[in-house]
Amino acid sequence: MSTIAFLNIGMHGYINPTLPVVAELVRRGHTVIYHTSPAFAEQIEATGAKVHLYAGQDLPLPDPPIPLAMLDGLAHTAVGLLPGVLTDLRAARPDLVVHGAACPWGAVAARELGVPAAATYTTFAFNRQVPSPCRISRELLAAAAARPRIARSYARARWALRRDYDTSGLPLTDLMNAHEPLNLVFTSRSFQPGADAFDSSYQFVGASTGSRLPDPEFAVDHLAGPVLYASLGTVFDAGPGLLRTFATALAPLAGTVVVATGATDPADLGELPANVLARRSVPQLQVLGQAALFVTHGGMNSVNEAMQAGVPTLVVPQGADQPLVAQRVVDLGAGLSLRTEDATIETVRTLARRLLDEPRFREAAGVQRDAQREAGGYLRAADELERYLEDAGSRPGPTGPAEATDRARER
Ligand code: UDP
Repeated sequence: MSTIAFLNIGMHGYINPTLPVVAELVRRGHTVIYHTSPAFAEQIEATGAKVHLYAGQDLPLPDPPIPLAMLDGLAHTAVGLLPGVLTDLRAARPDLVVHGAACPWGAVAARELGVPAAATYTTFAFNRQVPSPCRISRELLAAAAARPRIARSYARARWALRRDYDTSGLPLTDLMNAHEPLNLVFTSRSFQPGADAFDSSYQFVGASTGSRLPDPEFAVDHLAGPVLYASLGTVFDAGPGLLRTFATALAPLAGTVVVATGATDPADLGELPANVLARRSVPQLQVLGQAALFVTHGGMNSVNEAMQAGVPTLVVPQGADQPLVAQRVVDLGAGLSLRTEDATIETVRTLARRLLDEPRFREAAGVQRDAQREAGGYLRAADELERYLEDAGSRPGPTGPAEATDRARER
C-alpha cells in the first residue's frame, strides 16, 4: 500500500471533486495525507485522510478577481507555504503527490522530493487549441501594463520560486495549469472542448461526486415539485439583487425554488414568495437529484453535477472560466446562457420557461448525463492513480518511488 499526498488550494470547487477519490483510496488501504486550510479540515478528515493544515489563513479571492491577481496570489502563497509543506512531506515520505492543477506548491513539492506527481483539474484542461484564461495573452499583458504593481509583485514571487526550488516544467505564468505526466480532468470527454487534442496523459474521468457530509437541517425529500434550483456557487458574491431576481423569476414556474445564497445572507434577499427556500448552503447533489432546472453561475463543478443529474442549466457566468463553461453548455444544447447585466425577472423567467418546456434541452442534458456516467467518476480516478503508481514503481530512474525516497532523505 502507498502513501499519497494531496495538496490543493482552499476552495470548495477545487477540493470537492477530490474528496470521493481520497475516500476511495483510503478504502483501498492507502494512507492519504491532505494539505488544506482550516475551513476544509472537517470535510477532509471525514474521508479518512490525515489532514495537514497550511500555516496561516484561507487563501482569499484576489482583489480584483482577475487572472493577473490570481497568479500573483498563487506565486506568493507558493513561496510562503513551501517550507512548511516540504517539512511535512519529508516526514510523511509520500510515494505520489496529487495536486490541484492550480496548486503550484504541490507541483514544486513533488519535484523537490523527486516523487511522481499527478494533477487534478476542476476546470477544463487547456492547451494551444483550448487556451487557458491565465496563459500569456494580449489580455494578460494589458492587465500587467494597467496594474504594474501586481505585475512586479508577481514577477518577484515567481523569480523567488525559481531561485529557491526545482520548478522544472512549471509554466512561467499560468500557475493555474501545472500539468503532470498524469492529469485527471473531472469532466467527460464529451464536455471537454477539443478533447481529441489532448494526449493520453489527460484522463477525463467525469464529475467526481461521492457521499458528502449530510445536512440534517435540509429535508430534500419533502420539497414540492417541480423543484427549480439557483446558486452562484461558493466564491463569487454578486450581492442579493441577482439572487432575488432568480427567486422572483422562478417562483411562478415552480413547486419549490431552492436558492443557495453563498456569501450573501438570505435575509438580505428581503421578503420572497412563499415557495422560495433560501439558505446559504444546500446539499446540492441531492437538490439536483430532484431539480427540473438549475440557474447557475457556471462553476465547473456545479455544471458537471447538473449534467451528471441530467438537469438543464441556465448559466449566468460571474467570472473566471465560467463564460467558457456557459458557451460549452450552449454549444451542446444542454442549456442556455444569460449575461448578468441582462438578467431581469422577465429574461430569467422567459429562458427558464423555454428550458422547462422544450424537451430538446432535457434530452441534450441526458446525453451529457450518460457521458458523465461513462467517464467513471471517482472510481476511475482512483484506478488511474493506482495504475500510475504501479507504473512509476516498476520504472527505473529518477521518478521511481525508491529513488524518490532516497532524494527525500538526502534533503
Ligand atoms: N455547493 C454545495 N452547496 C451549495 C453551493 C455549492 O454543495 O449550496 C457545492 C457544489 O456542489 C460544488 C461546489 O460547491 O461542488 C461549487 O463549485 P463550483 O465549481 O460550481 O463553483 P465555485 O463555488 O468554485 O465558484
